[in-house]
Amino acid sequence: MDIKDLTIRKFKDGLRNGDFSVREATEEYLKNIKENNPLLNVYLETFNERALEKAAESDKKIASKRDLGSLEGVPMAFKDNILIEGQIASSGSKILANYRAAYDATVTKKLEAEGVNILGRANMDEFAMGSSTENSAYGVTKNPWNLECVAGGSSGGSAAAVASNMALGALGSDTGGSIRLPASFCGVVGMKPTYGQVSRFGVMAMASSLDQVGPFAKTVEDAEMIYSALRGKDGRDSTSVDKDVEAINLSNPSDITIGLPKEYFVGGLDKETESAIQVTIDELKNKGFKFKEISLPHSKYALSVYYIIMFAEVSTNLERYDGIRYARDVEASNLFDLYMKTRGEGFGEETKRRALMGSFVLSAGHYDAYYTKAQKVRALIRKDFTEAFKEVDYIFSPTSPTTAFKIGERTDDAMKMYLSDILTMPVNLAGLPGIVVPVKGRDASMPVDFQLIAPHFHDRDLFALGKYYENL
Ligand code: GLN
Repeated sequence: MDIKDLTIRKFKDGLRNGDFSVREATEEYLKNIKENNPLLNVYLETFNERALEKAAESDKKIASKRDLGSLEGVPMAFKDNILIEGQIASSGSKILANYRAAYDATVTKKLEAEGVNILGRANMDEFAMGSSTENSAYGVTKNPWNLECVAGGSSGGSAAAVASNMALGALGSDTGGSIRLPASFCGVVGMKPTYGQVSRFGVMAMASSLDQVGPFAKTVEDAEMIYSALRGKDGRDSTSVDKDVEAINLSNPSDITIGLPKEYFVGGLDKETESAIQVTIDELKNKGFKFKEISLPHSKYALSVYYIIMFAEVSTNLERYDGIRYARDVEASNLFDLYMKTRGEGFGEETKRRALMGSFVLSAGHYDAYYTKAQKVRALIRKDFTEAFKEVDYIFSPTSPTTAFKIGERTDDAMKMYLSDILTMPVNLAGLPGIVVPVKGRDASMPVDFQLIAPHFHDRDLFALGKYYENL
């Protein structure tokens, strides 16, 4: 068995044909991890014993042909902010270095019920704050295509796990681009569902009005299989909904109009990205898809709005790490000292910056000028998309202005780092679904993914379009 060639689809076929057992496959993955993880820093921890036990359970089910899940035995990596009962969940932070999850996240329960085998917890920017995984307290994850480059962030470990065959699929979370950006930097498929499609219960909150969990995989079909297992209403997350709109029929591409937001194509795009994107547009045009320039006039405010709303929600969500709950072992002479030491030592630089900025934008004298205003502009950004979807069916763009950048290149300049997500964060502000798919047939050194955005709840259309492109 060569795990390099495997996809979830082929894995399922292989099991069905008896080509290998889940145990054999799991051992292959663990072997690859043992060899390559020290180089790439993808996993913070692997659950070898647990994974082999689960594999044996799956093999038993397969032998008896009973209770088989739709993802039986599929080896996956979970971002370190997703709770798995009994396992450490550190969210890439020192403050939670020893925190063990007391319960499963809903997504963990759902995927394990379908037979998924979680191999370990994947590296990430601390509390999902970053674009390069350089904010992890446990070291940077390297890009499997070029060890001098970042894997992207904040779900860098999850993306790199799939790209380096250390897992067949992975889960990440996306608040402003944290699934799509690393997927693009690592040349795999990544998808952020419509806000509400996937339960956030048991996923450590970053910015609650923006966070969604979603899949990474090698193919769009694989990503959809994971998505199908993830989605659905959950009584434990009141923002979750049950709305599964059937996928569009693509037998007549000429009936479909795809919008190209002019604001997303002006300046800043590197040559490699620009040409890869143009090739894809031409390919789709040849098949009959219509393309049309559109305008999302409030895009220019998206970054500022995101970085006010997100800061505000982050600072509120981080309040729980106070040294009493999720305790760390610190010597303190009084309560204030305990807070200071716990947070001073436990939080990284970027986390401190955001907690401070968030407290500032929410403070009595500044609340209206920043937070309330940002919420108003957020409504306008959302309206831009609603208007655009009256003219076009979907929206197409690059995922990021550049391919993966060098480790250290943006760490000294927060603004430069923040700009990495300029093309993904408006999608979160509007609560829309977005998928990123690797551009095919390039011989360039670093991968480029294009991004497709659909109206709310048309998540399945994105998979249909992605599969169409992959099969061209
Ligand atoms: N890079 C963005 C940020 O730093 C997005 C993070 C995310 O989606 N979790 O906030």
